[in-house]
Amino acid sequence: MKVIVIGAGVVGLCLGWHLARDGAEVLVLDGDEPGAGTSSGNAGAISAGSVAPLAMPGVLKTVPGMLTDPKAALHIPLRYWPRAFPWLWRFVASARPAQVQATANALGALMFGAMERHREILAAEGALDLIRETGQLYLYRNRAQYQKDAGSWALRQQHGMRIEFLEGLSAIQALEPDVRGDYQLGVFIPEQGSCINPRRHAQVVAAGILRQGGQIRREPVEALLLEGQRVDGVRTPAGEYRADMVVLAAGAFSARLLAPLGIKVPLESQRGYHVMLPAAGIQVNRPLIPADRKAFISPMETGLRVAGTVEFGGLDAPPTPYRAELLLEDLRSVFPQASTEGLQGFWMGHRPCLPDSLPVLGPVKAWPGLWCAFGHGHLGLTGAAPTGALLSRAMLGPAPNTSLAPFALERFG
Ligand SMILES: Cc1cc2nc3c(=O)[nH]c(=O)nc-3n(C[C@H](O)[C@H](O)[C@H](O)COP(=O)(O)OP(=O)(O)OC[C@H]3O[C@@H](n4cnc5c(N)ncnc54)[C@H](O)[C@@H]3O)c2cc1C
Repeated sequence: MKVIVIGAGVVGLCLGWHLARDGAEVLVLDGDEPGAGTSSGNAGAISAGSVAPLAMPGVLKTVPGMLTDPKAALHIPLRYWPRAFPWLWRFVASARPAQVQATANALGALMFGAMERHREILAAEGALDLIRETGQLYLYRNRAQYQKDAGSWALRQQHGMRIEFLEGLSAIQALEPDVRGDYQLGVFIPEQGSCINPRRHAQVVAAGILRQGGQIRREPVEALLLEGQRVDGVRTPAGEYRADMVVLAAGAFSARLLAPLGIKVPLESQRGYHVMLPAAGIQVNRPLIPADRKAFISPMETGLRVAGTVEFGGLDAPPTPYRAELLLEDLRSVFPQASTEGLQGFWMGHRPCLPDSLPVLGPVKAWPGLWCAFGHGHLGLTGAAPTGALLSRAMLGPAPNTSLAPFALERFG
């Protein structure tokens, strides 16, 4: 069975790894180096239990702030509002309680065992040192601030997440001695993990594809090739490649290759930023998330990474340095003593987001031969390994136990 995977981000790579292991002849195509895009710069959190969608009941109240407050965790510049509006409309509509439950069920089914799925790949590649299982810690200033998120925590707990409350700064400092900010409540999730170098992680998975006989070529896909009503290959600047199945795993860029087939998918980039501090001079044992703007302060093997913020602005507009500066504010609110010596500019990436917080996974019914694996939003690192395992089985058999129905492209009509 010949399979082409378009996109060598962490999702395409983990899928390519499973397909190669399961006996397919795999070719991964990307105009860039494996894992060089969004997958290189994320916060490294492996958050299997994060089943709460971004749009929770009450989200409508936060929309005015998104539009008017440039410091808000999620900001939509006014110039982008007309483009964002249809997406935002669907986003707010997806906050209905029944839809929220359905999303949590689907995410729970997909992400369940994400740590084990990552371990499976990394163990086979001799790179288990890339992940840590020291949990994650959310920091709240007080109970009132926590109360705003109580609904999402309850949903996560219903889906099996174990959390421990740390009352008072001294309880927080027992886990994270260098925290100095005014945080009085910690929410510790012992069973979540993290990756200490997402770029190296992607490279390791890519090497695993080659080790198992797959190929990776640095060629961007210009178009899908059609044979009648079937997709049977791709065109790159170097030529044409045919395959039994083609998987679109180009992250936030995926909609561009679907448009010529007449398929419209509400895929938006939620642009996120990070700053790296090579010598912060503080001890951080696990990803810390101050609840104010939900930035992630993550220890990496190359320094301390502060990652987060959500900005709408599309795939082509230049970055907004101010959004990255906010991350330094987030850092200082927890660690006023942190040193920014050697600060290495900032990085921006594109979270591929669908309005209902679910990725698009599975076959495209109108175009046999074409499969999708994109739209993991804020959870693409987490979801990459379980997605690879699930889709490889759906494509090559035996059929997986997890239903792909909630992830179907056709849910958007
Ligand atoms: C600031 C930030 C922090 C984050 N933190 C976390 C976190 O802690 N945990 C977590 O789970 N997730 C996190 N995420 C989300 C996660 O990084 C993404 O969901 C994930 O990287 C998406 O992976 P992907 O493979 O779908 O897309 P990408 O990494 O974007 O890969 C897509 C690839 O497709 C290629 N491509 C595009 N067009 C074509 C084409 N025409 N032909 C061939 N190739 C093409 C691109 O070059 C790219 O390499 C974060 C994201 C950001 C921005």
